[in-house]
Formats: sequence, C-alpha cells, structure tokens
Amino acid sequence: MVIKEAKFLMSNTKVEACPTPDKPEYAFIGRSNVGKSSLINMLTEQKKLAKTSGQPGKTQLINHFLINDEWYLVDLPGYGYAKVSKSSREEWRRMINYYLQKRENLTCVFVLIDSRHDPMAQDLEFIHQLGNKGVPFVVVFTKLDKQSSIKTDSTIAAWKRKLRETWEELPQMFRTSSEKQLGRDEILSFIDEVNAQ
Ligand code: GDP
Repeated sequence: MVIKEAKFLMSNTKVEACPTPDKPEYAFIGRSNVGKSSLINMLTEQKKLAKTSGQPGKTQLINHFLINDEWYLVDLPGYGYAKVSKSSREEWRRMINYYLQKRENLTCVFVLIDSRHDPMAQDLEFIHQLGNKGVPFVVVFTKLDKQSSIKTDSTIAAWKRKLRETWEELPQMFRTSSEKQLGRDEILSFIDEVNAQ
C-alpha cells in the first residue's frame, strides 16, 4: 500500500462521537511508551501525525485518522503507566471496553509489545480480553533495533509459549522498528489484504 494521504480527523472520548463507521478501522494500542506514536508516524510517513507522548497516560482520547480516504487508523490511549490514578485507570477500562464492544467497523486491533520485555500481566490481560470478546487482533513487537536478534527471538518465543497456554492458534505477529523503518511494508500489506477481503 502506498500512503497517499493521512489526515487527523478528531479526538474524543465517546464512541458515539467517532466518525461514521463506513470504512474499515484499525486500532493501535499498547503500554504507554511502547512506541505507538512512533509506529503510527512510521506507517504514515509523517513525522508528527501521532503525538509522541510527553506526558504518558495523561490524555485518554480515541484519536481518528483517515488514510487514503479508505480506512481509519485509530490511536487508542495506552495502558500501564504507573503514575495514573485508580480512577483514570477505571475510566480507561470503561472507555476501551465500550469502544471494543460497540465500534462496529473495528476490523483489527494492533497490540504493541516492547520486544525487550518478557510477557507482562497487563498485556496478557488485554490480549485475553480481546480474545474473549472475539475482537480480531495481531501483535506488533516494537523497538527491535534496541537489542540483538537473539534477544528478540527469545522474547517472541516466550510470548508464543504464553499465548499457547490459552489458544491453539497464535495471532499474526509483526517485528518492527520505527527507528529503522522495519515492518512497515508487512503491516501495510496486511491491512491491504484485509481491506480486500
Ligand atoms: P508511545 O507512548 O507508545 O506513543 O511511545 P512513543 O512513540 O512516544 O515512543 C516512546 C519512546 O520510545 C520515545 O523516546 C521514542 O523515540 C522511542 N522509540 C519508539 N519507537 C522506537 C524504535 O523503534 N526504536 C527506538 N530505538 N526507539 C523507539
């Protein structure tokens, strides 16, 4: 896929206020600081489309972007930022649950995982939630350039072992580095294929 146009549409907290659900929608989510904004900017070839988080966990907004007038890219608020209050965490949970349940054009969720860390409870909990709700998702390992490929392989192997405890079939996985432009073609081809189905 060639990205001809990527434009910011709106930020909001309510699913009802999101753009008309007339196009396939792909949502990106992960722990705060996982590299979500960098990945979105890498995919769209724009330096500042998604704002890299100055204050992680502060804004809890659903951000919609329109790509090539064909599909929506959604930047969802991250989870797992230690300094977030209990009430903000609860608010995040409510908003995300509602979005996952109600957004009818939601086609696939990209769950971002920092390739340097072994499986963490919060990521697993979120993935299980997607699985239980029947929301299609894939896993994106980020920041591959930060370590050796041996370490990346071992993190991914640990993830596969963990996910196999629950599921026979593993989700599709992507290896990325926004720094090195790695994984861009694979993710965009995947979106192309799904859009064509
Ligand atoms: P977000 O909070 O998930 O949106 O994460 P950001 O995209 O703001 O990235 C968090 C930090 O990780 C920033 O300092 C980025 O420069 C850095 N970062 C993100 N992706 C990569 C990557 O692929 N490689 C490297 N080396 N650093 C990255």
